[in-house]
Amino acid sequence: AAQPFPADAPASAALLERARAVVPGGVNSPVRAYGSVGGTPRFIARGEGPYVVDADGRRYVDLVCSWGPMILGHGHPQVREAVAGAAAEGFSFGMPTEREVLLAEEIVSRVEPVERVRLVSSGTEATMSAIRLARGYTGRSVVVKFAGCYHGHVDALLASAGSGVATFGLPDSPGVPASAAAETIVLPYNDLAAVERAFAERGSEIAAVITEAAPGNMGVVPPAPGFTEGLRRITAEHGALLVSDEVMTGFRASAAGWLGLEGVPASGAPDLFTFGKVMGGGFPAAAFGGRADVMAMLAPEGPVYQAGTLSGNPVAAAAGLATLRACTPEVYARLDVVADALTAAVTESFGRHGIAHRVQRVGSMFSVFFREGEVRDYDDARQQDAERFGRFFHAMLRRGVHLPPSCYEVWFVSAAHDDAAVEATVRAIEESAAEIA
Ligand code: PMP
Repeated sequence: AAQPFPADAPASAALLERARAVVPGGVNSPVRAYGSVGGTPRFIARGEGPYVVDADGRRYVDLVCSWGPMILGHGHPQVREAVAGAAAEGFSFGMPTEREVLLAEEIVSRVEPVERVRLVSSGTEATMSAIRLARGYTGRSVVVKFAGCYHGHVDALLASAGSGVATFGLPDSPGVPASAAAETIVLPYNDLAAVERAFAERGSEIAAVITEAAPGNMGVVPPAPGFTEGLRRITAEHGALLVSDEVMTGFRASAAGWLGLEGVPASGAPDLFTFGKVMGGGFPAAAFGGRADVMAMLAPEGPVYQAGTLSGNPVAAAAGLATLRACTPEVYARLDVVADALTAAVTESFGRHGIAHRVQRVGSMFSVFFREGEVRDYDDARQQDAERFGRFFHAMLRRGVHLPPSCYEVWFVSAAHDDAAVEATVRAIEESAAEIA
């Protein structure tokens, strides 16, 4: 890496102080605050391809990529043009537009089991609405989720509870009513026997199982062979729906998300899917969709209410559509090349310097656990050296590479990460590994 940056960031520090006076914690989403790594969160002035530039004018290789959406890098020309074109025609109408049809068609054409889709504005809204729909469709109220899977800040889905089999959820956050958490069963990921037991006990009350298609919110933890298939089989046997959350994996893990990599399970496809991030191209657009007969329960066709003033917003839809259309096979090939280079660098440098590590990956989505051995669930993921990750994060930051500020997150790459950005990152990994060894 070029001249390392100093550890302090005066312009960001000044902005953080002002922000704290008017915004809780100075940030609009908690993980931005560098809570687990310490130090001053960098305030970003602009993005350029694979880089972000902070308020002090320092340029970093961006491995946050807005937590997933910026799969093409910052300021992609086709997306900029589409956004400018849409904005010139109007910002929002609250009446239907052609772009919403085009975006829905694009999603339906890519993800085969998705027959109907509704657009919303965030991943949280997508999962919240999918859960309501599943409850409305089945007439049941209990939802099964897996520890370590994040589905947005939906009351019923914030419960994550401790380890153990068929743990009944306790609220993870004040403000989530115990009654909401009581309708949630939290199970260990990759443990089909636990799912069997929960259904044996309460199968007739369970509306849905929701799972990250391939979890990326406890670090990357791929479903064990047969896990997704088992979920589909068990839910079908008990008349419950299976909701596959592809907010992170959708259009990133492959052109058709995780489903495109794993294929439709032999036991059948999930009933509902949720999407976000890439399909909004950096704007607030997300979606849920699936079986036509289930989606037909939604208002105005059916009785399950769901709505949004800005749903299908024309500028956001234009950005999402342009992004998906620009996601060519070459883009996915480039993401793989970048992920190959960075995972190889971590393996080599951490190995050379004797740093315990484990790299896990689905498609171009990967994360680095600061521990040895396979990570199969949240309990495994939590057994890592978070303090050492914090030192690594700051060593990388001083060398001009911005990692996600938590050891539980995917290192997001983009097709704009060119050889120069990759080489700078590889050098920073080697130097930072030497520093923290
Ligand atoms: N589901 C998954 C799998 C996610 O990764 C996220 C966000 N990280 C969400 C849902 C929530 O999306 P949003 O932040 O847009 O509400």
